[in-house]
Amino acid sequence: MKVGRNTRFLVKERQNPREVRPLCRFAFRLDELWCDCGKFQKLHLPCSHVLVACKYAHHDFARYISHVYTLQHVFHVYERLFGELINEEY
Ligand SMILES: [Zn+2]
Repeated sequence: MKVGRNTRFLVKERQNPREVRPLCRFAFRLDELWCDCGKFQKLHLPCSHVLVACKYAHHDFARYISHVYTLQHVFHVYERLFGELINEEY
């Protein structure tokens, strides 16, 4: 793993003899919440590459978890009443 300014990383996966897929390298930028794998920006959760780098650089990975996953945010979803379905079969 290479570190650049402690926010940009390059992670090289180890070869797993049980997997046939080729070795991959993933670059990611914590300051931009972006990873080559795409999971970080799509799910707004740290992917495995981010978790490894956070451990390496002594960053708290929890700070990269979107607020939409907090219990408080989830509770807000249920504050409003849900609309009634017109057709009972739906
Ligand atoms: Zn990733």
